[in-house]
Amino acid sequence: MKLDILVFAAHPDDAELACSGTIAAHIAAGYKCGIVDLTKGEMGTRGTPQLRMEEADKSSKILSIHVRENLGFADIKFLNDWEHQVKVIKMIRKYRPEIVLANAIKDRHPDHAKGAELVQQAFFKSGLNKIHTNINGVAQESYRPKNLYHYIQNDYIEPSFIVDISDYWDKKIDSIKAFDSQFILRENDEQETFISAPGFLDFIDARAKEFGHRIGVKYGEGFTMSTTPGVKDMFSLL
Ligand SMILES: [Zn+2]
Repeated sequence: MKLDILVFAAHPDDAELACSGTIAAHIAAGYKCGIVDLTKGEMGTRGTPQLRMEEADKSSKILSIHVRENLGFADIKFLNDWEHQVKVIKMIRKYRPEIVLANAIKDRHPDHAKGAELVQQAFFKSGLNKIHTNINGVAQESYRPKNLYHYIQNDYIEPSFIVDISDYWDKKIDSIKAFDSQFILRENDEQETFISAPGFLDFIDARAKEFGHRIGVKYGEGFTMSTTPGVKDMFSLL
C-alpha cells in the first residue's frame, strides 16, 4: 500500500503525544497515513511491551490510521548504524510516502534524537539505487520521499511551521489516553513517572495552546525542517 504520510516513532506513544492531531487532520482530508514504531518501549518504567502493543492498536483504531508496524529495535540500546538504517529504508521503500515524520531533533529522551538521526539517514539513502533491499526475496525499488519533518515532543524547539489541529484535539487526547498504562496513575499502582505525574496532560494541552496561539487558532502541533518551506500560493499560509 502506498501511503501519503509515514510517521516513524522511537516508542509507541511518541506519535500520539507529538503529532496525532496532524495525523487525524490529514486522514480526515483523505490522505493515507501509517506509523512505524522503532521499539516496543520495553524499557519504560510502567506497563509491559505486550500491553503497549495492545494500546498502540487501540490508538491506531481511534486515529483510523491505515498501517502500523513495529520494527522491534531494542529500546534505549538501538543504534543509528547501517543494520538499523536498512530496516528503516525497507519501510520507506515499502510504503513510498510523500512525507516522512520523525522524532524531535533533540529531546529529553535520548532515543528521540537518535531516532531522528536514524530516519534522516535512511530518508536520504532510500533514494540511492545502488543500495539493494528486498522484502521476502522481492527486490525493492529505490525511493526518496519529498519531505522530512520532525515533530516537537517534550523539549521546546522553535518550530519551522505549525499545523492547526483545533478540530482534532479530542481525537488526539483519546489516542494518548489509549496508552493508559503510561499516562493514567491508579491507586497502589506502579511507581509514578515523569509522564504519569498529574499535570502531564496539562502540559500537552498548554503546549498545543501555545503553538495554536502562534498561528491564531486554538490548538497546534509544531514541526521543524532542515530546509526552507516554499509555497506556490502565498494565500495558502494561514
Ligand atoms: Zn519516546
